[in-house]
Amino acid sequence: MISSDTLRNPAPFTLGLAGLRVLLVGSDVAAAEFLVGQGALLHVVDANAHAATQALAAEGKLRLDRRGFMLGDLDGVRLCVTAPGPAQAAAEARGVMVGALPPAPRRTGRATLVGAGPGAADLLTVRAVDAIRDADVVLYDKLVGPDVLALIGPGARRIDVGKRCGRHAMAQSAINALIVRNAQAGRHVVRLKGGDPFVFGRGGEELESLRAAGVPTEVVPGITAALAAAARLGIPLTHRGASRSLHLITAHGSDDRLPEHDWTALARAGGTLAVYMGVRTLPLLAARLLAAGMAPGTPAIAVENATLANERQALATLGSIADVVAAAGLDGPTLVLVGAVVAMADVARIEGARVEEHLAA
Ligand code: SAH
Repeated sequence: MISSDTLRNPAPFTLGLAGLRVLLVGSDVAAAEFLVGQGALLHVVDANAHAATQALAAEGKLRLDRRGFMLGDLDGVRLCVTAPGPAQAAAEARGVMVGALPPAPRRTGRATLVGAGPGAADLLTVRAVDAIRDADVVLYDKLVGPDVLALIGPGARRIDVGKRCGRHAMAQSAINALIVRNAQAGRHVVRLKGGDPFVFGRGGEELESLRAAGVPTEVVPGITAALAAAARLGIPLTHRGASRSLHLITAHGSDDRLPEHDWTALARAGGTLAVYMGVRTLPLLAARLLAAGMAPGTPAIAVENATLANERQALATLGSIADVVAAAGLDGPTLVLVGAVVAMADVARIEGARVEEHLAA
């Protein structure tokens, strides 16, 4: 018998497997790489194949069947590498040489909630890229752009949970259950979320259900839309003398209406307001802030698809922003910034901005 140590450590000799058929039951990556390196014609059978094994298969280095062992798998095989179990017994009964792997440890699954940032792949954190590359399963929705999805490994399963079946994307409870179920099957589940998972991303609900199920979970922060939009336009969100606070608010309540914030407190704070999901309710939001005492001439800007190739902006004032956004027809993911600091926006890069006109109004 060839011990598993022999299979893992640098080989002191070669096994002369060149061109011989070898069966590996279960996707022990180190064993697979060693056998491929020895020139074996490697066939791997594993119902829960590891992403790295799937990648080797995609490169044509081995043949992978994602199922359990079957007797016919031993036909023409010279060496069968397996943990103790039915494959070992069958190989021994047929006189096929057996390479012994240690009993398969139960793979414990885990989940990573990954902030995918505003869309541009080079705004991902290094940690996010590592998690995406390591994933066995990736769940994503419509805020995650194609450049980010391109980082997913060839063997990983992709699940679009934002896909509209009828009118609705998958319900949050169904997404939570899908993440938990995949992790409990021993997989590394990556939940990719636009921006940061914990800023209006419902990442908190996913974390609660993962905790309740006892699934080890890591959270990787991402660049939230407010930070991305501000950086693009050269708008400091806080600035000495101009803004001492930043409020992130949603303009979309659970019933599709503008949530009731403490408008007076927001107006009085005199800082910068970053409004998420604000296009539809923008006229009412502006009216509320004006009624609460915010000056109509306060600079305001709407940024659609910030950092993506199809980014568009509309620069105006609190008094005119709703009309300007409607006229510009912004209807993609749009972030609205309101506050004195918005006057610092790099107007030169804002094509078609009606800034002078509106700031003067
Ligand atoms: N977790 C995300 C927010 C999800 S809520 C984050 O941290 O950014 C969805 C809202 O985010 C959109 O309605 C829009 O207001 C904002 N948003 C997300 N990506 C954006 C982008 N690239 N450009 C502008 N706004 C964006």
